[in-house]
Amino acid sequence: MRLADIFKQKKPISFEIFPPKGELSTESFHATLAALSKLSPDYISVTCSAGGSGGRERTAVLAGSIRKDYGIESCAHLTCINSDEQMLREDVQRLHDAGVENVLALRGDVIPGSTAHTFHYACELMRRLQPEGFCMGGACYPEGHIECADPAEDLRRLYEKQEAGAEFLVTQLFFDNACFYRFIENARRIGVTIPVTPGVMPILSKAQIERMIFTCGASLPSAIIRILTRYENDPDALRKAGIDYAVSQIGDLMKNGADGVHIYTMNRPQIATDILEGMRGCR
Ligand code: FAD
Repeated sequence: MRLADIFKQKKPISFEIFPPKGELSTESFHATLAALSKLSPDYISVTCSAGGSGGRERTAVLAGSIRKDYGIESCAHLTCINSDEQMLREDVQRLHDAGVENVLALRGDVIPGSTAHTFHYACELMRRLQPEGFCMGGACYPEGHIECADPAEDLRRLYEKQEAGAEFLVTQLFFDNACFYRFIENARRIGVTIPVTPGVMPILSKAQIERMIFTCGASLPSAIIRILTRYENDPDALRKAGIDYAVSQIGDLMKNGADGVHIYTMNRPQIATDILEGMRGCR
């Protein structure tokens, strides 16, 4: 089913996973998928390595398997920055062969040494994908994309994604809902009308958060800093506080009319389980 049609019916709860590095058929990975599918998400998205080669076929295979073997709708991420037309054609063929209907079209990050740069921005990929018939989504950044110094320009680029055929958007993780609400207001003001699903990642450790801040530039509200400081040496308590924070963040987003929620599961079904249980407790 096209995700655009799911968005017409409900505010979807979706999960994100990444393909495992080892064998795709490993029992443990299929145990992960089985556990996630028991939680009945509206769809599961599968990330894609931004490298022009190596590992990209896993995304298509997994996204196909989620639909066929687990009966859950899927969305395959597809990056373009390190690809040329021929590589992209192969990616597209693999997605069609796997029966994938939904694609999150992304630029990806430049891989040093890569020489294949036919596509420079996600919009170019979206325009190229238009005749392929996928339901396309795109990424967005409530606090602005880390490379873009001007939030207004970043928003204009976002509008271009809608013009290029994106039918839904998923945000980068953020911890401060006020940033998301401001972003939505500004995006709607300039004519972005498609659904925007907030992406939520629970904090599990200080190292994880430090990594995230440097790669995506998400700001840390004082509540998060307090959690990190208080439970720095108590991993179990930190994990619990992180899940509780994510649950209250999601509760607030839902209450304020967000278009669903996208949970970055980090391939750990227990995280998704704990968050969904917490959400039930909040209702
Ligand atoms: P773009 O929309 O192309 O934007 C990139 C930058 O270029 C921005 O600063 C934008 O303002 C600017 N820009 C856009 N168009 C133009 C233009 N015409 N002229 C000048 N500047 C322009 N990465 C992966 O490798 N694999 C994944 O599976 C993956 N999944 C993701 C899922 C989500 C929900 C999100 C939010 C991100 C994901 N990423 C993934 C990371 C993403 O690839 C990076 O954030 C990347 O740096 C930007 O991708 P984009 O598609 O948003 O790029």
